[in-house]
Amino acid sequence: MTEATGIVGEFLALKEETDADILAMQCGDFYEFFAEDAEIVADELDLKVSQKGSHGSSYPMAGVPLDDLTPYLSALVERGYRVAVADQYETGDGHAREIERVVTPGTHLATTDDDAQYLAAVVRDGGTDGRQTGDDATYGIAVADVTTGQFLVTEQSGADATAAALTELYKFDPAEVLPGPDVRSDDAFLDEVRERTDASLSLQTTEAFAPGRARHRVREQFGAETLESVGIADAEAAVRAAGAVISYVDETGAGVLASMTRLQSFDESAYVDLDATTQRNLELTETMQGDRDGSLFSTVDHTVTSAGGRLLREWLQRPRRSRGELTRRQSAVAALAEAAMARDQLRETLGDAYDLERLASKAASGSADARDLRAVQETLALLPAVGDLIAETDRLADSPLTDVLDRPDREAAAELAADLDEALVEDPPGTVTQGGLIRQGFDAELDEIIESHESALAWIEELPEREKRKTGITHLSVDRNKTDGYYIQVGKSETDRVPEEYEQIKTLKNSERYVVDELEEREREILRLEERRHEMEREIFERLRDRVAARAEVLQETGRALAECDALASLAAHAVRNDWTRPELTDGRELAVEGGRHPVVEQTTQFVPNDLYMDDDRQFLIVTGPNMSGKSTYMRQAALITLLAQVGSFVPARSARVGLVDGIYTRVGALDELAQGRSTFMVEMQELSNILHSATDDSLVILDEVGRGTATYDGISIAWAATEYLVNRIQAKTLFATHYHELTALGEELPTVENVHVAADERDGDVTFLRTVEDGPTNRSYGVHVADLAGVPEPVVDRSRDVLDRLREEKAIEVQGSDVADGSETEQVVFDLGSGELVAGDTNSSQQQVATDGSQMEVPATDSNGQSLDPETEAILDELGDIDVNETPPVELMAKVQTWQEQLDDSDAD
Ligand code: ADP
Repeated sequence: MTEATGIVGEFLALKEETDADILAMQCGDFYEFFAEDAEIVADELDLKVSQKGSHGSSYPMAGVPLDDLTPYLSALVERGYRVAVADQYETGDGHAREIERVVTPGTHLATTDDDAQYLAAVVRDGGTDGRQTGDDATYGIAVADVTTGQFLVTEQSGADATAAALTELYKFDPAEVLPGPDVRSDDAFLDEVRERTDASLSLQTTEAFAPGRARHRVREQFGAETLESVGIADAEAAVRAAGAVISYVDETGAGVLASMTRLQSFDESAYVDLDATTQRNLELTETMQGDRDGSLFSTVDHTVTSAGGRLLREWLQRPRRSRGELTRRQSAVAALAEAAMARDQLRETLGDAYDLERLASKAASGSADARDLRAVQETLALLPAVGDLIAETDRLADSPLTDVLDRPDREAAAELAADLDEALVEDPPGTVTQGGLIRQGFDAELDEIIESHESALAWIEELPEREKRKTGITHLSVDRNKTDGYYIQVGKSETDRVPEEYEQIKTLKNSERYVVDELEEREREILRLEERRHEMEREIFERLRDRVAARAEVLQETGRALAECDALASLAAHAVRNDWTRPELTDGRELAVEGGRHPVVEQTTQFVPNDLYMDDDRQFLIVTGPNMSGKSTYMRQAALITLLAQVGSFVPARSARVGLVDGIYTRVGALDELAQGRSTFMVEMQELSNILHSATDDSLVILDEVGRGTATYDGISIAWAATEYLVNRIQAKTLFATHYHELTALGEELPTVENVHVAADERDGDVTFLRTVEDGPTNRSYGVHVADLAGVPEPVVDRSRDVLDRLREEKAIEVQGSDVADGSETEQVVFDLGSGELVAGDTNSSQQQVATDGSQMEVPATDSNGQSLDPETEAILDELGDIDVNETPPVELMAKVQTWQEQLDDSDAD
């Protein structure tokens, strides 16, 4: 192929200059994509491809009209592409093109999504490699949202720095990540980022991460003293990450640096530790299936603004540890809950608010139009209304809401709003080049021009009447088009009456077009005035926009204050509607809930409230109960009540006393891990390991089954040892649901371990779930009952009961006491199915059928009457023994039962 010249050549040359995935190049009124880019874009966006010839070769070409680029850009960026935009500009002898900006997933301003859109940089200092634990690296993370001007930095160091850094990234869920030089080559780390977030990974130059340069950029952006005042002067990794983000935003040309006014250092220890698994398990923002509906956020979110929704979501994802902040939020929610009328009014007023933080970024980037500035004005003007409402409602005036409203500079906000109102017309057009933006009376010179312009237009408007009167022509009109300018049009039948001064310019089928000198003069005047008017209006508008951009901080502060009112009012509204209560926050290790409910399940179910009591003497609860009885719900409910309390929200309970926790850790068997090709057991153990490393005596731990993914005795042993470790060493508040009945023995042996069970009523073989939680262990497992219900043949069910009872009788596992630290070993035991006894592991049993592994359990081939069974039944029994009722989908269970029945029928028939 010969080298392309002309437009395609220019495109390819520009493409060489950028590392963006796609180039959009302006060609007159279109943005064009050529060659491979045209094919990608056509494919992704359903555009038509044509061919463009160049130097004997043909290149695919696709284009979009100039004004339509933004939605196409959004769509491409959402799909993870980085798109360079080359604009065309006039030069002395024609035009040239240059790449003005690169739109990337993390720097895309025109997003239509309400969620935060984060760009993150991660830097690693020190440490040897990306091992998950035990490395001594320090991670610096900087996170910016160009759409709101938010800019946060944090550092993670210590033994679990890598895991902590990944958790941070997961929480922010950035759209784009810039890995620092050390991280770039760490495939394991990058894989984790890819797996845990939807981010695209982009390359930022190594120089941008260099300490000196990065520090300089941060100082330049936020002021020389900022690093000291934010307390990160010595946090080199954080500063390097921040510098890289700033230079990336600058280089991509989003033009929003002006809206990034405040650097916030982000202190991890202010927040409750919630690892990625826990966020998923508790379904905070989406369900385990990935739906937004049915998540905690979607349940409690009644915000009326997108900024309020963003804030509430952030609160749920980042519960707080400090009692002060929580009490403040609680008091505001309490006040709003009581002041029903004022709350409704407040929410109605806030409903008119636009997204000020986003508008600040738009103003800073120069992409805000007059409607945007009107939106700024209207929203700023709400501040006094909201302030008055709060001040005039006694219950609210005494609440922390007053402080929330005092945070923004209300005077500056009022001033800016007044200025905008004075300058802009009520309902400005969506374009800034066509005039009609600025109110009369705002600028004397503009007024003059407008007056002349309007009077010239009025002259034209009156022209047809005047001419009709003068000439007596009835079919006469005056119009304007691009080629002819203004003209007088006369019907064919009346052209003989046309006066001499009419100069004919065009003949149409039924009419003739004319001009007269004066009309041409007026036309020139109108064009001149029009141009001047548009230019002046645009100038005034741009000055106005610059002033708004310079006041970005006022917009952001006001936006945040309104968002906070919205989020607090939303919590109050939910509390009132659902009869939630204000929890008492304590520093003790207690969790006392009366009449507690699950915040999401109570929405769709006639929920049976239950109680929960934990404290220093009752620190570890083993939760047993039949399958589907509500164990999991009960435990998640405990975690969610704690979490909501630490958001500052009311909680679903009649009363609650919540000892503040430093972290919530959960481990729940997930359905889809096997499908992801990860060994369930490995994942389970990784999660357990993480909990045992991270939890402290101030944490809340939820374990929904441990050790299920392996053979029975492995499982029991691990669950048993983990319990001892949690009780004796870590002393975390723990709820542990298990199907290992053996573990309930721990309740008798360890003083702070108690058994509770979800009650079920069994009468005439029917189980009724009562959903209430009572002290003590369950006295039986209901798995066999399920087998019975499913129609498993009676001999099999009977035999299962026998086997179960024999298993039950064993409590030979020795309990390890609180002297776990001295390394004393427990007696190792194995279960001998032949004898139905547990025997010491080192005394090799004389029995042949000693099973060290549940998967090899051999059920003696006799029925409950001691009669021999045929091999067919024996095989079925084996299979039954291997099935984990809790892990097998019901449909599969039914299919199996059906197969067995058929097999048994066959063997009966034999
Ligand atoms: P388990 O963990 O014991 O298998 P789950 O917690 O998954 O049981 O609960 C099973 C079903 O029972 C769920 O669909 C849940 O909605 C319902 N449920 C649980 N607790 C209650 C309750 N207290 N009141 C009403 N329904 C409940």
